[in-house]
Amino acid sequence: MSATRILATLGTACSDQAAVQRLAEAGATAFRLNFSHTSHDLYARRVTAVRAVEQKLERPLGILIDLQGPKLRIGEMADGTALSAGDNFRFDMDSAIGDAQRCCLPHPEIYAALKAGQQLLVDDGTRRFEVLQATAEVLDTKVLVGGTLSSQKGVNVPAVTLPITPLSDKDEADLIFALAQGSVDWVALSFVQSADDLQGRIRELIDDRAALMAKIERPAALATLPAIIAAADGLMVARGDLGVELPQQQVPMVQREIIDCCRAAGKPVVVATQMLESMIEQPVPTRAETSDVASAVFEQADAVMLSAETAIGKHPEEAVAVMRRIADATEAHPLSRQARVRHSTVSDDPNYHAVARNAVALAENIDADMLVVFSLSGATALQVARERPTLPVIIMTPKPEVRRRMTLVWGAHTMLAEAHNSYDTAFEQIHQQLLTDGKATVGQTAVIVTGPLFKQVAHKDITIRVLHL
Ligand code: PGA
Ligand code: MN
Repeated sequence: MSATRILATLGTACSDQAAVQRLAEAGATAFRLNFSHTSHDLYARRVTAVRAVEQKLERPLGILIDLQGPKLRIGEMADGTALSAGDNFRFDMDSAIGDAQRCCLPHPEIYAALKAGQQLLVDDGTRRFEVLQATAEVLDTKVLVGGTLSSQKGVNVPAVTLPITPLSDKDEADLIFALAQGSVDWVALSFVQSADDLQGRIRELIDDRAALMAKIERPAALATLPAIIAAADGLMVARGDLGVELPQQQVPMVQREIIDCCRAAGKPVVVATQMLESMIEQPVPTRAETSDVASAVFEQADAVMLSAETAIGKHPEEAVAVMRRIADATEAHPLSRQARVRHSTVSDDPNYHAVARNAVALAENIDADMLVVFSLSGATALQVARERPTLPVIIMTPKPEVRRRMTLVWGAHTMLAEAHNSYDTAFEQIHQQLLTDGKATVGQTAVIVTGPLFKQVAHKDITIRVLHL
């Protein structure tokens, strides 16, 4: 299986165990549950399905919960509502189902902030409205760009700065609920604008039970990217909102910049939104979509994401399979190896990083058959992954939750190992397990790098060993 991970969103098109299994078998490594569209009841059922498939397939599957965040959305719409340019259209606070005359926009901050002449965008910026008149509870607008308008579509107001709480009451309730189910591996936070958004309350609530991913979708986040990367466990290039908040033509290079910064820091990065959009309807992607996925893989993203393609699309498994094939083909090309050139930047912990980097270099130089990483917290595995090794990497950890978090990390194929209290027993067990599990054969060479395996061991004591099997 290729090194690039696939994060597939679950939705009405694939909710039950059989559907989740088909996605996993097609190559999905982790699943996204989007609280913008998922009730607690549905959430619990989908989590049960993922965990059942995990057990059946005997490999870890990650669960990422995507908190709606302060994301602004319109309310429910009557099916088939369509608007035309030049129409008058009203946004108000009435929760009644919307139609071609009006719809609910349940965000008082927007009414307070917007002025006549400014624009309000809906559905990834594809529907545009110009404000004619704004009062505390009503926005009268003129449709600039029309089309169908369906329920719960996102709203952007690029012209104004809104005082936004990164973690809404709904997010808190969703997060507490999901964590109580004991099933969350990653929590994605929308609308992150600064490192502060990733500290305090959200970390307190998570309490080390999951990793935290910052969704980059506002220009403000780009201004403080290094601090955000340092405060997060991973990033998502959330191109949906980013492409609305920024001039669209800037997004491709911003994506590249974010990937490079994450890789330099050893933090996983997911490229998201519209990757195979046409596959919501069609069984094959456009050439441009294929090229987009390949670009993200070539740029060394850890994971690529499917949203509506799997959540509500007509060809969910095929979308995953297509993505997997594109990742395989791109990774296999000789130019991809060149693209993996090492970063000269060292991580926050130079000792840690030096050992990981030299283990990779040693393994490649002696032409080892594999690199084995024994990691308790996953930190050593991240340091190795950021080197993008050109030989197979196997990560061994005694912690099932670490294996699940690693489902969004480049090349992180994991095995469950025993915990140890001496390096000698650890190496002996690694040796045995590689042979028994058929990961290696007698006569092969493995380079092993371990993190600090026991509490009393300092970071700098991480170890490299060459094992002749
Ligand atoms: P969303 O996030 O689908 O929750 O809006 C992804 C994005 O903005 O790209
Ligand atoms: Mn978004």
